[in-house]
Amino acid sequence: MSFLMPCPHCGPRDVYEFRWGGEQSQRPAPGAPPETWGDYLYFRTNEAGEQREWWFHRAGCRRWFLAVRDTRVNEVKRTFWPGATPPTQQAPAVEDPSDV
Ligand SMILES: [Zn+2]
Repeated sequence: MSFLMPCPHCGPRDVYEFRWGGEQSQRPAPGAPPETWGDYLYFRTNEAGEQREWWFHRAGCRRWFLAVRDTRVNEVKRTFWPGATPPTQQAPAVEDPSDV
C-alpha cells in the first residue's frame, strides 16, 4: 500500500523512497543488566496506535528522521528530526538547521 511520507527535509514523497527503521526505543545505560539489554535488542512494543518510528529517506536526502505513525490505520501524523520536539501538527518541510 502506497502513501505519502512527509520527509522533514524534502517534503511529501512516495513511501517507497524510504526505509523503515523500526520503532524508537530508549537505549539502556552502559552497565545496565544483561536482561535490560536483551529486552532492548529483541523485544518491541508493537503499539496498536501512535508509535514513534525511525525512517530513512534512501532515495532522497539520505537522512534518518522520526515519524509518529498510527499503526492501526497506517497514517503518518508527524515527522521531525531526532532531538527536536515533535510538532503537534505536521508542518510544511523546513530547512534543516544543520545545513547552514
Ligand atoms: Zn528527504
